[in-house]
Amino acid sequence: QRCSDMTGRIIRGIGGFYYVAVASSGMTEGQPDIYECHARGIFRKDGKKPLVGDYVEIEPVPDEHGLIGRIEGFLPRKNELIRPAVSNVDQAIVVFAIRSPEPSLVLTDSFIIQMMMQDIPVILLFNKKDLADKDYAVSLAEIYGDSGVKAYPVSARDEEDVRMIKGMLDGRTSILAGPSGVGKSTLLNAVCPGASMETGEISKKLKRGKHTTRHSELFAVSEDTYLMDTPGFSAFGVPDMDPEELKVYYREFFPYEGSCRFNGCSHTHEPDCAVRHAVYAGEVNRNRYENYCSLYDELRSRKRYR
Ligand code: GDP
Ligand code: ZN
Repeated sequence: QRCSDMTGRIIRGIGGFYYVAVASSGMTEGQPDIYECHARGIFRKDGKKPLVGDYVEIEPVPDEHGLIGRIEGFLPRKNELIRPAVSNVDQAIVVFAIRSPEPSLVLTDSFIIQMMMQDIPVILLFNKKDLADKDYAVSLAEIYGDSGVKAYPVSARDEEDVRMIKGMLDGRTSILAGPSGVGKSTLLNAVCPGASMETGEISKKLKRGKHTTRHSELFAVSEDTYLMDTPGFSAFGVPDMDPEELKVYYREFFPYEGSCRFNGCSHTHEPDCAVRHAVYAGEVNRNRYENYCSLYDELRSRKRYR
C-alpha cells in the first residue's frame, strides 16, 4: 500500500536493524522520529547493501512498543563514500587543534586528499584558538589560502564560532573527521546537544553484546541537517596512488604546471622547476609545498617496497 509510505533516512545500522529518521509532524525540538526497521529481507535488486545515509521509503508497522517500520524502497544515491561507509555526503569538516595536540600538517593534507579523491568539499577547522595567540591561529588558516579548502580558526567554547559552524552545517550532510583529542566530540555536542546521549544509549545496548565497536552513525542536528562522526579515521595515511598523481591535489601548483623545464616534473628535485621557484618567491605556501614533498616521498617508498 504505497500511499502510506514515508520517506526517511538511514542514520545507523546495527545488530540487524536499520534506524530510519523521518520528519515528524509534531517534531519534538526539531528532531525527527526514528523508526526501527528490521534488516532482514532488505536487499536491493543490484545486490548493494543499504548504507547509512541512504534515503529510503518506509512503511510504518503498528506496534505498541515504539516506532517500527519496514523499508520498502531506496531513493537514488547522490554519492557513496568508502571510508567512512556512508552515502549522500555534502561536505567534510576536518578538525585539527591549533595546539594540544600540536597539528601535524602532513596529516591534515592527507585528510584533505582523501576527501578530494572522493569529490567531497572540505572545510578545515583549527579548534582551540583560545590556546594560541590570534596571529598564529590566523597564519595557520592562511596556509590553505590557495588550496581550495576553506580553513578557519575556531573554538568549540566560543558561542559565535559554534553559531558559524552551525551555519556551515545547515541543510547539509557533513562528516566530521580528525585525530583524537582535537575537540570533535566537544564540537559535536555544542552544535547537537543530543548527540552524546544517543551515543550513550547505543553503547549500553552494545555492552550486552561482546564487542563495543563504534559504527557509522548520522546525528540529526535538525530535520535536514546531519552530521557523522568518523571514529578512528585518523589511522589512515595518504591514500595509495601513483606518486606522480599527488600534484593533482595541490591546487596552488596549477598556475605553474607546464612551466617547468621537464615534462612530468615532480616539483621535488628537478632543475628549473617553476613550482619550486614559486615557493622561493613566496607565491606558493612553503608549508604546503613541504607537505607535498613528504607525502611524495612516502608514496615513492611505498611503491618501492610493493
Ligand atoms: P575528540 O577526541 O576530538 O572528540 O576531542 P574532545 O572533544 O574529547 O576534546 C579533547 C579535549 O579538548 C577535551 O578536554 C575538551 O574539553 C578540550 N577542548 C575541546 N574544544 C576546546 C576548545 O575550543 N578550547 C580548549 N581550550 N579546549 C577544548
Ligand atoms: Zn616542477
